[in-house]
Amino acid sequence: MIDLKNKNIIVTGASGGIGNSIIQKLNEQGANILATGTKIEKLNKLKEKFSNIKILPFDVSQNEKIEEFIDNASNDLGGNLDCIINNAGITKDNLAIRMNFEEWKKVLDINLTSTFLMSKFAIKKMIKNKKGKIINITSVVGHTGNLGQANYTASKAGIIAMSKSLAIEYAKKNININCISPGFIKTAMTDKIDDKFKEKIISKIPSARLGEPEDIANAVLFLASSHSDYINGETLHVNGGMYMA
Ligand code: NDP
Repeated sequence: MIDLKNKNIIVTGASGGIGNSIIQKLNEQGANILATGTKIEKLNKLKEKFSNIKILPFDVSQNEKIEEFIDNASNDLGGNLDCIINNAGITKDNLAIRMNFEEWKKVLDINLTSTFLMSKFAIKKMIKNKKGKIINITSVVGHTGNLGQANYTASKAGIIAMSKSLAIEYAKKNININCISPGFIKTAMTDKIDDKFKEKIISKIPSARLGEPEDIANAVLFLASSHSDYINGETLHVNGGMYMA
């Protein structure tokens, strides 16, 4: 039995493909959810689908406003914060010699720096609650590297090492900090990949298919629940076997 009923949970990147599925699964478990993303229209659509969730638009690249966001989001949820899922992420692909500084910095800011700051201010709340769960979404290419993604792969590898450091610092405070590393999942992010390259990817996946957003959401349920209480600093690979750590 997944014990997430009435748990106060923030989900970033909630309006995306994986985010939608995370919201659906958490909602089925009776969690008290605050969904965030930059586009209010997308969040309103989510609210039409799941009427009991709270929505709060926020651009995670506004580093100086993250503490205020965590405060506002926690207050909207009723005070305490039990769990945050740092799922917002972008790609800006280019070969390294063509990648400009802006493409590098934007991806690092949104994927890595915001995940650190969201985690930092969530931890401050969780220390007061004497418990908490932080789930950071990384990527299989953060382990393997990938053509045209020096920025994205660096940001995702950074999330893994940072999460381990935070786990070492706060495990004794009863705060679990773990990552989920998706393989190639069917969302807007992978729709951009052309069909020929997709076939090539699928040929390297032992499960012989791309992942579904629910595959990631199921892993979130586990790491958000008390079933994972003795797991800390770990990365859960959800990739159909395409990369085995
Ligand atoms: P989508 O592109 O479908 O969704 C991305 C989400 O991130 C949207 O909700 C978007 O909200 C939000 N977002 C983007 N920029 C910002 C920002 N500056 N501030 C706040 N929110 C922002 O992606 P997926 O659902 O596929 O990906 C979710 C996560 O999973 C990402 O971290 C991604 O790197 C990771 N991942 C995905 C894989 C895949 O195959 N799909 C594989 C491995 C990892 P809005 O549109 O409102 O800005």
